[in-house]
Amino acid sequence: MIKYMVIGDPIAHSRSPGMQNAAFEFHGLGSPYGIRHVRPDELGGFIEFARANLKGVNLTVPHKAAVIPYLDTVDPAAEAAGSVNTLIIENGRIHGASTDGYGLEHALLENFSRPLAGAGVTFIGAGGAAHATAFHLAALGVKAIRIANRTVAKADEIAEKLRLHPALFVETARPDDSATLARWFADTDFLIQATSLGLKAGDPAPFDLALLKPELKLCIFDTIYKPTPLLAKARELRLPVADGAAMLIHQGAKSFELWTGLSAPLDAMRRGFLEAQPC
Ligand code: NAP
Repeated sequence: MIKYMVIGDPIAHSRSPGMQNAAFEFHGLGSPYGIRHVRPDELGGFIEFARANLKGVNLTVPHKAAVIPYLDTVDPAAEAAGSVNTLIIENGRIHGASTDGYGLEHALLENFSRPLAGAGVTFIGAGGAAHATAFHLAALGVKAIRIANRTVAKADEIAEKLRLHPALFVETARPDDSATLARWFADTDFLIQATSLGLKAGDPAPFDLALLKPELKLCIFDTIYKPTPLLAKARELRLPVADGAAMLIHQGAKSFELWTGLSAPLDAMRRGFLEAQPC
C-alpha cells in the first residue's frame, strides 16, 4: 500500500519513486512510495489526504514554500530558508524538514575533494533550492556566498537573511553582469547552478559560459541531472564538474532516514535512480 509519495507540478520526470522504493525494498519493506501530480490549487486538499493516509511526502516545485502554512511543526532551518521538501506524518501531525542542503553538502563532498569550511560559493539562481542550500552551507562555515539571479530582488532577500551569519561575506548580482561574475569566479571554490535553465532542450545557458576558463580553481555543480550546456562546457575545459544526481540521492537518503529511522542504502538508491524511467 502507498504510504509515501512525491508531489509536484510537473512531476512525471521524477526519479524519486525508483530511488526510494529501492531503499524500502533493500530493508524488506516492499514498494510503498508513489507519485502524484498536485497543482498549486490542490495542495490544501492533498495535505488533508496525506494527514489521514500517509507517513511521508517529498515535495518539489512549486510546493516547497507554499506547504509551510499547512504544517504543525517545521524544522527551524527549513523555516528560516522558507523551503520544505520532506513531510514526516505521525498520528495526524505533520512535521516539515528540508534535506536539500544536506543533499548538496554530501554531493559536493562525494564529487570534489575540497573542504566546505572556508570555501567561496557562488550560486546562479535564487529559487527554493538555492534558498535552502545556501543556509545549510552558511551553517557549515563557508566564507562567502555570492548569488546571481535574473530577479535580483530574490537574491537580495536571501542575502539579507544570510548576513545574520556575522563572519559570512555576501554579495548579489544579475547573471548577465559578466564583469561581476568574472570577479566572483576568481574567488569561488564551488559554483552551484541552481536555476531551472537546462531542464528543457534549447534552454539558454544561465550565464555567459565564456567566463569559464581552464585556469579557474572552481568546482562546478549543476543541480540538474541531465546534460546541460554548462556541464558540457565545464567538461570541455576539464574543470571539475558534477551533475545533480548525487544531490537527489543524498537528499532522498536523508528523507528515508527521517521517515524510517533506518540507515539509507546509498548504493541501492543510486541503482534505483539510474534504472528509474521518468513516467
Ligand atoms: P524555483 O524555486 O522555481 O527557482 C527557479 C530558479 O530558476 C530561479 O532562480 C529563477 O529565476 C530561475 N529561472 C527560471 N527560469 C529562468 C529563465 N528563463 N532565465 C533565468 N533564470 C530563470 O526552482 P528550485 O526548486 O529552486 O529549482 C531550481 C533548480 O534546482 C531546478 O533545475 C531543479 O531541478 C534543481 N533542483 C535539483 C535538486 C536535486 O536534488 N538535484 C533538488 C532541488 C532542485 P527568477 O527568480 O528570476 O525567476
